[in-house]
Amino acid sequence: MNSDNLIQIANNKLLTVTTRPDIIMVKGKGMYLYDTKGKKYLDFVAGWGVNSLGHSPKAIASALKKQSKTLVNASPAYYNLPMVEFAKLLTESSCFDRAFFCSTGAEANESAIKLARKYGAVHKKGASDIITTLDSFHGRTLTTMAASGKTAFRKLFEPKTKGFVKAKFNDIKSIKKLISKKTCAIMLELIQGEAGVNISDKEYITELRRICRKEDILLIFDEVQTGMGRTGKLFCFEHYGVEPDIVTLAKGIGGGFPLSAMLTKETYNIFEPGEQGGTYTGQPLAMAVGIAVFKELQNGVIENCAKMGDLIKTKLYKLSEEYEVTNIRGMGLLIGFDLTKTKGKDFANKCLNSNLLINSPQEKSIRLMPPLNITEKEIDELFWILEKNLVKK
Ligand code: PLP
Repeated sequence: MNSDNLIQIANNKLLTVTTRPDIIMVKGKGMYLYDTKGKKYLDFVAGWGVNSLGHSPKAIASALKKQSKTLVNASPAYYNLPMVEFAKLLTESSCFDRAFFCSTGAEANESAIKLARKYGAVHKKGASDIITTLDSFHGRTLTTMAASGKTAFRKLFEPKTKGFVKAKFNDIKSIKKLISKKTCAIMLELIQGEAGVNISDKEYITELRRICRKEDILLIFDEVQTGMGRTGKLFCFEHYGVEPDIVTLAKGIGGGFPLSAMLTKETYNIFEPGEQGGTYTGQPLAMAVGIAVFKELQNGVIENCAKMGDLIKTKLYKLSEEYEVTNIRGMGLLIGFDLTKTKGKDFANKCLNSNLLINSPQEKSIRLMPPLNITEKEIDELFWILEKNLVKK
């Protein structure tokens, strides 16, 4: 079947959930994706920060091959070897004691919400409110949509899950006003990715940590996007010098394989059997991939991310002297900037025509989140395409 026929089928047979260009991807290698017409794209979206080791990395392919010949699936009712190994690796490399595995970021966040409410039920006279922030994004299940502060979600799919109150992002006074006896947790992204790469201040996070300790409120960091090396450290919270009570991870943790996790401390190991679980918790293929990705990240990839992130920002500053680039921000390889003359979506489309995939999360902003093992050569290619499509100041 030729590619035009395939595109017609795609447009007519898949449930419409988003707008997609008339492109069908068939292959990925390193920093590049290839479509059915043989066109090659430089990928600075990387599955929204998922493909931390690039496309089709050897480490994932061989972990899947080996594990699929040994044990594809057991049952979450039993421990399996890679599940045990991955829990050990994650807890021994972090400040956490316990791991719960699932498949998506939304599920990891739902797990954190459930754990916080369990804590409220057991230790705080039934406190169940969770404070989240305006413009935040925590997922697309009904409960994580209710937790999210994304404006477009506000009126969708009523009735909403109750118990979420929204504070202004990066505003300690706004959070303090919302804290009550009913509060069991505060949940936030240290960097709001979907909102356009908004970075929280160190003082704000330090103060939040202090307040949560004082009031016996759980502090949950949603590191679905910022975790697993994306910001140049294993966890973004390391930049802030604080530890949350719960962290949620997804995206980069599986390098493209559906995998997510919630990590927490021994104090919060309080679910009774049966209160949390799932058919695919600790799924052996996912666990094997998680271990392989983790080992690669620890083997120089996170350092590379920090270095390449700095290089991109330096080059963006240089570019901003002549072109419409402004408000450059980000940590590691989660970078945002704004455009003064072109709409973000229009710019992303122009770049697509130049075979570059980039994302515009907000009207004026552009977000770059390439694989963490990117090289200078590919960064040079990025800037060549950006320069070609940007408007001069
Ligand atoms: N939390 C954050 C910060 C995210 O960026 C996302 C996805 O973009 C999610 C949660 C939801 O993750 P998933 O789409 O895997 O459910």
